[in-house]
Amino acid sequence: MIRRVWLKAALSGAAAVLSLLWTGGRLLPRAGAGQGGQEKGAKMIEKIHRTDQEWRSLLTPEQYRILRRKGTERAFTGKYHDFKGQGVYLCAGCDLELFSSRTKFDSGTGWPSFWEPIAPERILERDDRSLFMVRTEVLCARCEGHLGHVFEDGPPPTGLRYCLNSAALKFEAREES
Ligand SMILES: [Zn+2]
Repeated sequence: MIRRVWLKAALSGAAAVLSLLWTGGRLLPRAGAGQGGQEKGAKMIEKIHRTDQEWRSLLTPEQYRILRRKGTERAFTGKYHDFKGQGVYLCAGCDLELFSSRTKFDSGTGWPSFWEPIAPERILERDDRSLFMVRTEVLCARCEGHLGHVFEDGPPPTGLRYCLNSAALKFEAREES
C-alpha cells in the first residue's frame, strides 16, 4: 500500500498526499487545507457522524456487527458474493455509492470482490494488524463503516482485490450507460 501511496504522490503532487499520510490515511479536513487549495482528485467527502445508539437503531444486527464492529460475514453466506446484477453498490450505512458492478469479479473467495472503487476518495484504507495478520482495511469515507479488506492479488487493470462483506453493501440496479 505504501508503494501505491508514493506513486500517487509522484503523480499528483506530494503535499496533498503527505497530509493524508499524517492523518493515517483519513480524509479529514485539516487546518490550512482550504477548499480552494486542494489538488484535483483529493476531493473531500463530508463525514456523517452518529452515536453508537443511533447506528444500532438504523442498522440490522448483522450490518451493525460488520460496519460498526469490524465483523466479517462467513464466506459464501452473503447475498452478493455470487450476484451478477448491473448497477452500483452503496454503503449500507450511509448510501454513498462505492463500487460499480463493472469492476466486480468472481474471486472464488465467497465474498463480493471488486478491482476498483467508483472514486478513490469514497473509501479509506487503514493498516489492520488484528488476528496476527497485516492487512489493509477498507472503510466508507463518509460514515467510516468497515467494508472489508483490500489485497494485491486482484485482476488487471489494478491488480487489487477489494474483498467486501455483502452486509456492508446495498445494491441498486442501474442501466449501463
Ligand atoms: Zn458509509
